[in-house]
Amino acid sequence: MTGKLQTRCVIAGGGPAGIMAGYLLARAGVPVIVLEKHADFFRDFRGDTIHPSTLELMYELGLLDEFLKEPHQEVRELRAVVNGQAVPIADFTKLPTHCKFLAFMPQWDFLNFLSTHAKALPSFQLLMQHEVVDLIFDQQRVTGVRAKTPRGELEIRADLVIGADGRHSIVQTRAGLDREEFGVPIDVLWMRISKKQDDPQQSFGFFQRGKLLVLLDRGDYWQCGFVIPKGGFDEIKARGLQELQNNIVSFAGFLRDRVGELDDWSKIKLLTVQINRLRDWCRDGLLCIGDSAHAMSPAGGVGINLAIQDAVATANLLAEKLRNGPASLDDLRKVQARREWPTRLIQAMQVFIHRNLVTGQTSQGKDSLPIVFRMLKCFPVLRQLPARFIGIGPRPEHICSGKR
Ligand SMILES: Cc1cc2nc3c(=O)[nH]c(=O)nc-3n(C[C@H](O)[C@H](O)[C@H](O)COP(=O)(O)OP(=O)(O)OC[C@H]3O[C@@H](n4cnc5c(N)ncnc54)[C@H](O)[C@@H]3O)c2cc1C
Repeated sequence: MTGKLQTRCVIAGGGPAGIMAGYLLARAGVPVIVLEKHADFFRDFRGDTIHPSTLELMYELGLLDEFLKEPHQEVRELRAVVNGQAVPIADFTKLPTHCKFLAFMPQWDFLNFLSTHAKALPSFQLLMQHEVVDLIFDQQRVTGVRAKTPRGELEIRADLVIGADGRHSIVQTRAGLDREEFGVPIDVLWMRISKKQDDPQQSFGFFQRGKLLVLLDRGDYWQCGFVIPKGGFDEIKARGLQELQNNIVSFAGFLRDRVGELDDWSKIKLLTVQINRLRDWCRDGLLCIGDSAHAMSPAGGVGINLAIQDAVATANLLAEKLRNGPASLDDLRKVQARREWPTRLIQAMQVFIHRNLVTGQTSQGKDSLPIVFRMLKCFPVLRQLPARFIGIGPRPEHICSGKR
C-alpha cells in the first residue's frame, strides 16, 4: 500500500543543505518535510568544518551561544606541514564576523543540533529512513516525490521539491538535469587512528611531494584522509598494507606506534572525489542545491559552507512566495543566479588546488616549498585571503527570511 502526504515543500536529503533549508523555510512559516534516507546522521565522510560564516548565521538566528556549548575545537589559524616545513595557511582572527575561528565539530553533532531546533517548529517534519526513489510529474512540472520507507512506499506531493541529496543525487538524475563534469585527479582513503594526549595539535594537513594527509581531531581518534591518485586504490592494495602504513608515518611520524591499527583493508574506505555542476539547477516545481547542484571536492574544506549558503539564499528568495503558493520557474532561477558565480569561483579554486598543490605536476618530486606556500610563509597579510575564502566565501548570505 502507498501512503500519501501533501505539503508545501519537500526536501530530499538531510545533509547541511537540506536541514538548513528545511529549518529556515519552516521558521518562515512554510510547511516543509525533509526526507533523509539514513536512520541517523552518523557518517564519517561529510567533513567537520563549521565556518565563521555559518557561525555568523547561528548568531543571526539567535542560536550561537547554545551552539558553542556543543563540544568543538576552535581553530584561529590553519597550519600545514609542507615538505617537512610548517606553514601558516589562513589567519581567521581578522575576519569581520562574531566568531573569528573555524569550529571543528563532527557533522552529525551539527545536524543533530540544527534538526532539534527545526523539529521545535510546527511546520517542520523530518522523516528518517525515507529514501527518495523517484519524482512525480504532472506533464512537465515536478509535483512530488516517491520515497521508500520502513513501512512501504510513500508519495509526497508538494508545490516545490528541493533536491539536497548530495553528490549522487537521484533527484537531479530523475529530473533529467544536465551536468558538467570537471576532471578530478584524486580520491581519498578515509580511516581512523587512535589519538594520544601528547599528539600535536590539529593541523590542516601534511603535504609532501604532491601528496596530502589530513588529520581531523575527533576527540579520542584521528580521522585520517589520505589523498591518492584517482583510480589508484587497487595498486595501493596490491603493494600491501605495510607500504600504506609506512607512507602515513612518513607524513606524521607521531603515528608510528599506532599505524598498525590499520591491519585490515576493511578499516580503509575509498571516497571518490568529484567536482561537477548542473547547467540548470531547476525546472518547473524543482530546485537542486548543495552538492546535488554542484558536487564539491574536499579541497579547501568549503563544500559544507557553500551548501549552507545555498540553503540560506533559497529561504531568502522563496520563503515569502512559498508561504502564499507555488514558486514560479523564474523564482527558482533566481536562486541559481544568486549562487552560481560563488560556486564557479570556488570550484575553479578547487581545480587549481588539485592541479598545482595536490598530486599536481608542479609539486611532484620536489622537496622545496611551492611558491604559494612560500608567499604565505613570508607575508602574514596574505593569510587573510585564504581565511576569507574558506571562512566566509564569496557572496556571503545573511538571514532575510522572516520568522513566523
Ligand atoms: C572526503 C570528503 C571530505 C570532505 N570534507 C569536507 C570538509 O572538511 N569541509 C567541507 O566544508 N566540505 C567537505 N567536503 C564536501 C562536503 O562534504 C559537501 O560539499 C557537503 O556535505 C554538501 O552538503 P549537502 O547537504 O549538499 O550534501 P550531503 O552532505 O552529501 O548530504 C546529502 C544528504 O542526503 C541524503 N540522501 C542522499 N540520497 C538520498 C535520497 N535518495 N533520499 C533521501 N536522502 C538522501 C544523504 O544521506 C545525506 O544525508 C568533503 C567531501 C568529501 C568527498
